[in-house]
Amino acid sequence: MSTITRFAPSPTGLLHLGNIRTALINWLYARTNNGKFILRIDDTDLERSKEEFTSKIKYDLEWLGIDYDETFNQSSRFDVYKERFNQLVDLGRIYPCYETPEELDRKRKLQMAAGGKPVYDRSSLKLTEKQKTDFESEGRRPHWRFLMNSERVQWDDILKDKVDIDLLSLSDPVVYREDGVPLYTFSSVVDDIDFNITNVIRGDDHTSNTAVQIELINSLDQNKITFAHHALLTASSGDKLSKRDNVISIEGFRDKHIEPLAILSLLATIGTSNSIELKDNLQQIIDEFRIKTISTSPGRIEIDLLNSLNKKLIQKFDYSEIEDRLKKIDDRIDRNFWETTRGNLDIVEDIKGWGDIVFNSNPIEPADKEFIKIAIDLMPDEPWNDETWSNWTSKIKDKTGKKGKDLFLPLREAFTGMSHGPEMKKLIQLLGRDKILERVKI
Ligand code: GLU
Repeated sequence: MSTITRFAPSPTGLLHLGNIRTALINWLYARTNNGKFILRIDDTDLERSKEEFTSKIKYDLEWLGIDYDETFNQSSRFDVYKERFNQLVDLGRIYPCYETPEELDRKRKLQMAAGGKPVYDRSSLKLTEKQKTDFESEGRRPHWRFLMNSERVQWDDILKDKVDIDLLSLSDPVVYREDGVPLYTFSSVVDDIDFNITNVIRGDDHTSNTAVQIELINSLDQNKITFAHHALLTASSGDKLSKRDNVISIEGFRDKHIEPLAILSLLATIGTSNSIELKDNLQQIIDEFRIKTISTSPGRIEIDLLNSLNKKLIQKFDYSEIEDRLKKIDDRIDRNFWETTRGNLDIVEDIKGWGDIVFNSNPIEPADKEFIKIAIDLMPDEPWNDETWSNWTSKIKDKTGKKGKDLFLPLREAFTGMSHGPEMKKLIQLLGRDKILERVKI
């Protein structure tokens, strides 16, 4: 049986690094096993799901190079869920419940106050037909729960090894809401069965869902699914990641011009036994992927690390690879310009700032006009080359007696308006004599 994995986001917000890591792991697992990767959009909750987020999820995946072989929306399968629900009804595994959310909440609080676990007490199972009709005539609509039969569930988890869960500590899951909407726990199982998913790989926040879902799968099918639960990523503070946290959304990084390969390199190595490092391309990430290296303790996202991977990646870009992109930023940027400035860029788009410095006038009034005047008087004629700067500055040094920082910093500031940047021997060649003369106000 060939491997089939899936990534199943709910389109209720932007994908963040944690979500995409799950997608990446599933994708890598499929690709390294010659298998298939399915994108399932978990949009049974029509009120919270937004088409806008579905498009963004697809765009994020495409942008990162995570391709899928098939995609579908759960909202297109309501009929199928109903059929499977009826199958469970026939098996006597479904029962209607009439508690309101407030009543359920009260029960939970009482259970916890008594030192117990907030597990649904199955009181609706004991309702007589008369009580049910009374509820209905009060205008209550039932929600439907799946009756779990087993006391415990065990499985061999690829990442957590043997997992053994006490089902008595978990509530019978609600499979249909009172408004007729099937819930994730159930619809996910139906899809995993129908799409022949062989491996469900997801965050360990789903471990107890898995226990419940295995009960469901066993009642509908013979379970052929292998599960793997990876530790979740956390924010650098150790806090849980949230979809509302735009700081770590993929869209947010794209807007900040972080390169996809920097993100993928981070996500392929964070929370694993390997060190975090830049990868050359997606193929390298595929070749090196070993699911067992994924750690069961949470990886912390350090944005600085992502930024430094991005900076490293930029240094590797050959001009020919990004020529079109650079020309869009400023069509005067050529190979020499790129090679001179890239060491000073955190993101490729930072080069715009150097374009302004090199090509635009930006008059600068130096702090020490006397000194700069001497420097300008000594400025050599063109053509300039890599030796020009050291010849010129040694003349300035001889004449003024300044050296080191006192010599170089005022010159850099007067010619570029910046106290740091690319090597001056290169930068002055980009600027040229006329631009320096035009710029410096003395
Ligand atoms: N829609 C679910 C989620 O985003 C899918 C979980 C799963 O992989 O089964 O958490």
